[in-house]
Amino acid sequence: MDRLARNKRLEGDTPGREAYALVRELYPICRSITGDGLRQTMEILRRYVPLEVHEVPSGTRVFDWTVPAEWNIRDAWVKDPQGRKVVDFAESNLHVVSYSEPVRKVMPLEQLRSHLFTLPERPDWIPYKTSYYQRGWGFCMRHRDLLALQDGDYEAFIDSRLESGSLTYGELYLRGAEETEVLVSAHACHPSLCNDNLSGVSVAALLARRLAAAPRRLSYRFLFIPGTIGAITWLARNEDRVGRIGHGVVLSGVGDAGALTYKRSRRGGADIDRAFAQVLRESGRPHQLVDFDPYGYDERQYCSPGFDLPVGSLSRTPHGRYPEYHTSADDLDFVSAESLEESFQTLVEVVEVLEGNRTYGNLNPKCEPQLGRRGLYKGPGGAELALLWVLNQSDGAHDLLDIAGKSGLGFGQVRQAAERLVEAGLLRPLG
Ligand code: ZN
Repeated sequence: MDRLARNKRLEGDTPGREAYALVRELYPICRSITGDGLRQTMEILRRYVPLEVHEVPSGTRVFDWTVPAEWNIRDAWVKDPQGRKVVDFAESNLHVVSYSEPVRKVMPLEQLRSHLFTLPERPDWIPYKTSYYQRGWGFCMRHRDLLALQDGDYEAFIDSRLESGSLTYGELYLRGAEETEVLVSAHACHPSLCNDNLSGVSVAALLARRLAAAPRRLSYRFLFIPGTIGAITWLARNEDRVGRIGHGVVLSGVGDAGALTYKRSRRGGADIDRAFAQVLRESGRPHQLVDFDPYGYDERQYCSPGFDLPVGSLSRTPHGRYPEYHTSADDLDFVSAESLEESFQTLVEVVEVLEGNRTYGNLNPKCEPQLGRRGLYKGPGGAELALLWVLNQSDGAHDLLDIAGKSGLGFGQVRQAAERLVEAGLLRPLG
């Protein structure tokens, strides 16, 4: 059974299977950085979580950028001299360069070629191309199909509209006991591409649903936004509130078969960076941790020097490092319920660490307290060592993540030790 068939069979109620089912539902929609495809996507996500959908008018200035005209498309094709459709938007929305202006023209093949984009080294794949900020039009097609075209006059037709409208994004705020926020951001502007875009969107939606139903110490903010312009727009409209963001992660490319990759925030040693390092180390799953670089997804905006927010990014194989990236091969067969599940669980564990991470003060700091007298030596394996580490390091300068990192113990063990010590009156939470 191939992976697609297996994934279909697996659809059901585990987060990975649900995420896969959501990817499949969102897959056919023609999304872009504005337009009805984005709205339709938000409507579907609203079945999972009560997203607030924002519309920001075209022409709005957002820092150095301007919200562009809204783009919508109904149909597009290229007909050969015999009137046969040789490229058809109805077959795949990747066939049209995103943001193509409307066109209806007959021209010789030689002239049309400058508007046709292919991948000669992957002749069966359709590339994904955009032209957001430069007016133009074009078609993307399989190189094999291009080679089969005969000379003659071709008719190019794109029934699109580029007009004043708005940029759409979805936002969910989950208030916790504390005002400090965890930001989870996913771009939702790509059309039929599964890993780059839909995997992050789906895992974020399911994480949001899970957190909405749970008690929370921290507050959470989920953003489903068009890449780059969406993050810039959100930051421009919320500049006075970003100080509450204590931790953040950008999700994208979390559904392929590669190992998990966490890219640190620009700060490098933020709590979110330490939390991912701890969870991935403890998981025993293959993974890599990489330093921040100013390329990638919306961490570029969140980590721009004027904001420098503690926002990292989670993916599996990094963007651009797999041949399927930005092509029609990033399809339903390229992502799996298993990978989506593992990415989801990693995030759940990171949330648990962020929720549980605190700094404590030792109330009996002069020499070790007598643990036996308090019945604290009886506990599960490793418990005693965890007690000693927490007592020794709880001087106000080390949080539980530090202690887990230094001791090599699991975060859960360290957290449990702290709870026992608080109960015994030997420790108190600070701050
Ligand atoms: Zn992309």
